[in-house]
Order: sequence, then C-alpha cells, then structure tokens
Amino acid sequence: MPNLNENYLKLQENYLFSEIAHRVAAYTKQNPEKNVIRLGIGDVTRPLCQCAGEALLEGAKEMMSADTFKGYGPEQGYEDTRKAIVDYYKRSGVEIDASAVFVSDGAKSDTGNITDLFAHDNVILIPTPVYPVYVDSNVMCGNKVEYIEGNADNDFLPMPDWNQHADIIYICSPNNPTGACYNKGQLKEWVDYALKNQAVILFDAAYEAFVSDSELPRSIYAVEGAKQCAIEFCSLSKTAGFTGTRCGYTIVPKELVFTASTGEEMSLNAMWNRRQCTKYNGTSYIVQKAAAAVFSEEGIRQCRENLEYYRENARVITDTLSDLGIRFYGGVHSPYVWFECPKDMDSWTFFDYLLQEIQVVGTPGAGFGENGKHYFRLTSFGTYENTAEAMKRFRNLLETNKKRKFVFSDWKSFLS
Ligand code: PLP
Repeated sequence: MPNLNENYLKLQENYLFSEIAHRVAAYTKQNPEKNVIRLGIGDVTRPLCQCAGEALLEGAKEMMSADTFKGYGPEQGYEDTRKAIVDYYKRSGVEIDASAVFVSDGAKSDTGNITDLFAHDNVILIPTPVYPVYVDSNVMCGNKVEYIEGNADNDFLPMPDWNQHADIIYICSPNNPTGACYNKGQLKEWVDYALKNQAVILFDAAYEAFVSDSELPRSIYAVEGAKQCAIEFCSLSKTAGFTGTRCGYTIVPKELVFTASTGEEMSLNAMWNRRQCTKYNGTSYIVQKAAAAVFSEEGIRQCRENLEYYRENARVITDTLSDLGIRFYGGVHSPYVWFECPKDMDSWTFFDYLLQEIQVVGTPGAGFGENGKHYFRLTSFGTYENTAEAMKRFRNLLETNKKRKFVFSDWKSFLS
C-alpha cells in the first residue's frame, strides 16, 4: 500500500459551488414555477469575440492539412502568442521580455503549480478573503500559511506588517471576491517590503482587464523593482470569455535569482521553464492562435465590448446598493460586488434567505476564508436582463422589509 499524501486530509471540504448547486437544486425541485436568477459563480455569459472565434476556426483548418499541421509545440508557448502578450503589456506602458512569458491553460493551474518552485518551510502570507486555490495548493504540499487580514477597516486591501518576516506573498488585485484593487502606492509598499525581505510576490492579475482607471496598476510590473521580486499570473478567462477555451500566462522575470543553501544561484525563470518542460506539454496551437488574436488591437476592441456589458451589469448592482445605503466594495474595477450581510446573518443564512425570498443566487463569502463569513458576493457576469430583474427584486425586498422593520433592521446604513 502506498503512503498517501495525508496533507489532503487537512484540506477544508471544498463545498462552496457544489453546496450552492445542491441548495438551488433542492429549492427548484420544490418550487419548479419560480424563476431563479444566478449571480453566484464566476463564469462568464458573453461568447468569444469574433477575432478569437475566427482564429480558432482558422487554427482548426490548419490542423486538418498536412502542410500546416502542428504537433507538439514549445512548452513555453508559440513565439507569436508570447510576442502578442509582450505587446499587450507594452501598450499599457510595461516592458516585459518574451523569455519571461509562459503561456498555459489558465491561471488556476499556474497559481496552483507554482508551489513546485519553493521549499516547504517558507513563511507564506495569503490574504483572507481570497481565491481559495492559493491556500489549498499550499495545504496540499504540507505548507503552513499565515493570513493577512482584509476587512472593512482596511477596505479589504491589507498592507504589509514591517515587523513580520515573509518569504512568499500572494496578492490578488483586483481581488476575487472583494473587488478591491490596490493603487500604485500601495503595491509599491508591497514591492518594497518584498525586496527588504528577499521575498517573492505571487501576483494574480486575472481581473486586470476590468481596471478602468489608467492611474491604477493592471500589472505589478508597473511598479519599480517588481521584476526583482514578483511573478505575475494572468488569464484570458474573464478578459476574453476563455473560461471554456482555456488560456492564461505567467510572467517569470529573469531578474528573479536567489541563492540556494549550496551557495549556487537559482533562477526562478529557469526553474519554471524546467518545471513546465517536465510536466506540461504546451497549450494547444489553436487556443494560442485565438489568444494572439485577442491581444491584437481589434481583438482588444472587441473584448472591450463584452467588458463594457459586464461593467453595465456591475453598475446596476452598485447603483441599487448605493440607493439602499448599503456599503459595498468592488464593482468598479472588478466584476465582483462584495457587501456585508445583515447582522445576525452569516453568509449561508443570507444565501438561503435571498434564495427563498427573491430567488436570487449569490456566493456566500464563507467560501473565500474566515474574513468572508459575514459577506456576500454578487457577480456582473450574468445577462443584463437577469441582473436588472435580480436587483429589482432585491430593492423590493428591502423596501418591504424597511416597512416591516424586519430582518434587515440591523443594516444600520440602510436604516439611516
Ligand atoms: N485567479 C483568480 C483570482 C480567479 O478568480 C480565477 C477564476 O475564477 C482564476 C485565477 C482562474 O483563472 P483561469 O480560468 O485562467 O484558470
């Protein structure tokens, strides 16, 4: 019998989306006539843009002809795709070397697999609440993590504690689930802190395309010194509707060189390259062709139309919350809107309450860590019609409750 990786026993049950599906299924079984609106999961609803779709078809045709057929490709990604990514950064004023770009099947794999590069005795800082993959992938390999607290006092943007040492720091900006987005000064402080500690920042920029203020950094490399201390992950999932097509990329600058216990220099770029060449056989040719099309000027223009559609949905949600006097986070540079549940309701109770009363499904904050237990996430990835209808129901519910001074009586801002 093999000895198993018993670290898996330490994982918290990952029941968030299955539990949501289970509760919604039970409700619809009992109430088949009700129209349930889902503003819960982070999947998109807009189809691929024209450019990407055409590139996929063209790629498929090339694969069907002996002259243009492609077998295994470079593990790091095709030159054209890497160059298209470099140009994408360049347009927002950030210089990246193509040798730092590794194309992949998505940011989830890369943010999970990056633990391969590090030993297991590091001080690892992970924000709470945040995308659960960071914690789980560290727990799986036996790493201990320390949490950095995001809360209402710091607008869900925790800053470094200069008295605490760290080796690895996860940052997700704009954040899933809170939608909070660091400004350049705040990211600079994290970079300075990492440089002082000789730490590595693992920066997840999966939602960078939602940043609409040119003053806010969409990449950590917009901050001076970041190439000496940061790896960046990005994804086409939300930017270009690639959740089902699958493509992402990771930037590992060659400047990231550290000294091993033997005294030898170790380059994270070389290590990631070795890791990918050993365990990954490259992203499919047709998908990379579509990705390169997304990063063309026309592709970006077309993707912007979809992003604008989601932004409008986010506006419908945030306008409703603002009108009702409910404080929220995100929704501006992010597809996610995050707000506190009424007092005495934890996030699952609130989930059930909204499902029963108005048939609107959101995501309980408890799924994103301890600090999410009393918060709730709505996404702007639904259709406009559903989002508007959901918010109409929400508004009616609160206005009725206001008259009844019922469940929401503890939403102080709402009462004032
Ligand atoms: N990073 C964050 C913060 C996410 O929220 C998600 C998906 O929801 C991902 C990464 C996964 O991206 P991908 O679809 O490219 O694997």
